[in-house]
Amino acid sequence: MRLLTWLTFLACWGVARAEPGKFWHISDLHLDPDYSVSKDPLQVCPSAGSQPVPSAGPWGDYLCDAPWILVNSSVYAMKQIEPQPDFILWTGDDTPHVPNERLGEAAVLEIVGRLTKLIREVFPDTKVYAALGNHDFHPKNQFPAGRNNIYNQVAELWKPWLSDESIALFKEGAFYSEKLPGPSKAGRIVVLNTNLYYSNNEQTAGMADPSQQFRWLADVLANASRAGERVYITGHIPPGFFEKTRNKAWFRETFNEQYLEVVQKHHGVIAGQFFGHHHTDSFRVFYDDAGAPINVMFLTPGVTPWKTTLPGVVNGANNPSIRVFEYDRATLSLQVRSPGCAGAQEEG
Ligand SMILES: [Zn+2]
Ligand SMILES: [Zn+2]
Repeated sequence: MRLLTWLTFLACWGVARAEPGKFWHISDLHLDPDYSVSKDPLQVCPSAGSQPVPSAGPWGDYLCDAPWILVNSSVYAMKQIEPQPDFILWTGDDTPHVPNERLGEAAVLEIVGRLTKLIREVFPDTKVYAALGNHDFHPKNQFPAGRNNIYNQVAELWKPWLSDESIALFKEGAFYSEKLPGPSKAGRIVVLNTNLYYSNNEQTAGMADPSQQFRWLADVLANASRAGERVYITGHIPPGFFEKTRNKAWFRETFNEQYLEVVQKHHGVIAGQFFGHHHTDSFRVFYDDAGAPINVMFLTPGVTPWKTTLPGVVNGANNPSIRVFEYDRATLSLQVRSPGCAGAQEEG
């Protein structure tokens, strides 16, 4: 018993001394710029479609996407809770759930720009690794496997956060990789454009490897392994299934298989995977062919409370959320706070 207590004390002491790094992950802000607290239930928000919104509040409604005040308060809450993160992951879906006719290319770019400006104002000195969500294109979901005006314009918006190499790559396919900031030099981030794999994307249907992103990803991970780096992978649409309805996968099947193959082959360098799109707080475990767990993916909940209209989902609304991770800067291992540590020292 004494030995156990001493070991617990040592473990807690070790954790306390390590001073973990912190980073934010935010996703699915889905700003609805036309939200208003109207007395007419049909005039509250375009994102409710034809559903009446009978008792809308100033901070939003479960039937609507996020009003500006909610988006703004979420980003300022990040600043209040953890003002000096090592970096921020921002995994897209900036625009409201409205039909394409209501949201042209210029309107999409304006909203991406507005959120970019807010995050830069609140965190002027922080590296932000941003990804586009399936709603951050016009027409939505239709991401091409090559150059286009939206990739170009967004690359300009995100220039302050990106290296020259990343900007060039982003203009080609909206994905990139960078060294993580910090003293260890062992951390790398990979930002993927998984909208290329979305089953609703007609632009990439039938392609073997859109934008050659899979080949690029395998190369980046192989190089990272040789360089002794550890890698975080992030993006908007995750592989796998949606937990709120049966058998709903987002990726086309062949793309899902390719993604799993990459993880199975290179899991040794992947220290974590971070995606959005579900709007739910969830995670997935990856297994090898023998059934042993080899990797984990965290799905961060959204800021929008919007109740999904996806058929078959019973409870589709969510409370607005933001998430901060603690991690070991040297290994990129994600850390769990141990509530037992304070007590263990007293026992000892
Ligand atoms: Zn979303
Ligand atoms: Zn999405």
